[in-house]
Amino acid sequence: MAVWRNGAASVVGPDEPVVTAFDLGLGRGDGVFESVLVAGGTTPHLDAHLDRLRRSTGIMGLTHPGDDAVRAMVAAVTTGWPEGTEGACRVFLTRGLGDGTPPTLLALLAPVPAETLRQRTAGIAVVALSLGVPADFRATAPWLLGGAKTLSYAVNMAAQRHAHAVGADDVVFTSLEGRLLEGPTSTVVWAAGGRLHTPPVETGILPGTTQARLFARAEADGWPTAVTDGTVEDLHRAEAVWLLSGIRGATPVTRVDGVDRGDAGLSPRVRQLLAR
Ligand code: PLP
Repeated sequence: MAVWRNGAASVVGPDEPVVTAFDLGLGRGDGVFESVLVAGGTTPHLDAHLDRLRRSTGIMGLTHPGDDAVRAMVAAVTTGWPEGTEGACRVFLTRGLGDGTPPTLLALLAPVPAETLRQRTAGIAVVALSLGVPADFRATAPWLLGGAKTLSYAVNMAAQRHAHAVGADDVVFTSLEGRLLEGPTSTVVWAAGGRLHTPPVETGILPGTTQARLFARAEADGWPTAVTDGTVEDLHRAEAVWLLSGIRGATPVTRVDGVDRGDAGLSPRVRQLLAR
């Protein structure tokens, strides 16, 4: 891992203390993060993550140490990483002590979990769980931090544990009215009527970098895309459904709320578009 100290990235061992217990990221989840895929020894999508990190820090009112600092941190941990092993590089930026001293910036690197790799082809069962907020509310409620990738993921992790407890792998969050939102760590995409669809970011969901890349490449490849208000019923009726993220890629959804579903053979094309 690496820690930003005195204006430079320092590589440290995983057991070395790097953050005070008074750090507000630890005590309050008061910070932001990004998970960046390391593949073929490089970070091909780093720029999109840098853009979103900057956006998240703006929403949170955090001090940003500059893109060059984040790049240096990612370079520090990825240098020497084996080309044949996919890695997940996590960048954490917290408010630090919140007393005007510099924010805390950390970068960690670990292999992509074997289970994540398996699910990319085997697929996953999801359950729909309500987040309990109206779909239009977060756009008018900046204190709910819609669209920011904050460190406050306890609810997201609890939702995934609940999914496991009821025999599923993951979750699709819905709004109070039953509109589709996102997964706890992923963007929802479905294919219907010859188009790829994803819910609007105005609902307060995180703008997915993988979804944006897929949609840009699909459009260029003649596969139209749309931002669509959907419901769980739309997922049942869709030709295919995927959960997308930088680390997992496009994972096909094989079951929604206990009902099996297929992917109409569309997953290879999606994977191919994302692989370019
Ligand atoms: N939505 C949430 C809540 C996430 O945590 C993530 C993943 O980090 C995504 C969507 C997908 O974003 P990306 O494709 O940029 O990894």
